[in-house]
Amino acid sequence: MRVAIISDVHANLEALDAVMRDIRKKKLGEVLFLGDAVGYGPNPNECIEILKKNCRVLLAGNHDRAAVGLTEIEYFNEYAKEAVIWTREVLAEENRALLKTFPVMKEMRKDKMLLVHSTPKEPEAWHYLLTLWDAEINFHYFDDMLCVIGHSHLPFVIERLPSGEMVTYKEGSDLKKNERYIINCGSVGQPRDRDPRACYAILDNDRVDFIRVKYDVEKTQGKMREAGLPLPLIERLSRGT
Ligand code: ZN
Repeated sequence: MRVAIISDVHANLEALDAVMRDIRKKKLGEVLFLGDAVGYGPNPNECIEILKKNCRVLLAGNHDRAAVGLTEIEYFNEYAKEAVIWTREVLAEENRALLKTFPVMKEMRKDKMLLVHSTPKEPEAWHYLLTLWDAEINFHYFDDMLCVIGHSHLPFVIERLPSGEMVTYKEGSDLKKNERYIINCGSVGQPRDRDPRACYAILDNDRVDFIRVKYDVEKTQGKMREAGLPLPLIERLSRGT
């Protein structure tokens, strides 16, 4: 197994293009997508089309579900809400229909791996898995060696030893046979770990690494301005927050 895992593209075409180029250059066999194709960014249709063409697995995130009316947006902050409403207006009919078919979770038995946008415990409640306590609870909700998630836009590896002790890695990690892992693959289109470069993960049989890819942030920001998307969403891309 040597696959690329990407998540949280958020309609950022420049970031997605840069990541896809990097994936091709590295000759990674497959691309798995963990949700949030749309929301926040200016190119939802283009991003959905690229993902459809290139990914073996396509999951839905909360923004995808919101854009097609399948989840409430009351708990979205005002800027996210505004972007969802904008996205609903520009989404092509066939992309809307396609987004509705994406599941929120997929088990890859052969690879001993569960893929989910938010959490294995309640994949449609859209909770964030951020702390070791969140991880401890969620380790009880899947049987596989690995669970790969997105949603918080923060890349990390949480390793659970047979003793129950947990260790966090921020830069990737070896994957040991008798241990279990929750991995967040970071965000392609709106990183929040103060590194504005696009992020994705490469998963090998015994190792996971986070790859950072530079893209034309200003070009994306220019398109967002033209589309009239909220200023805080435009500005956060240059900070990676
Ligand atoms: Zn997201």
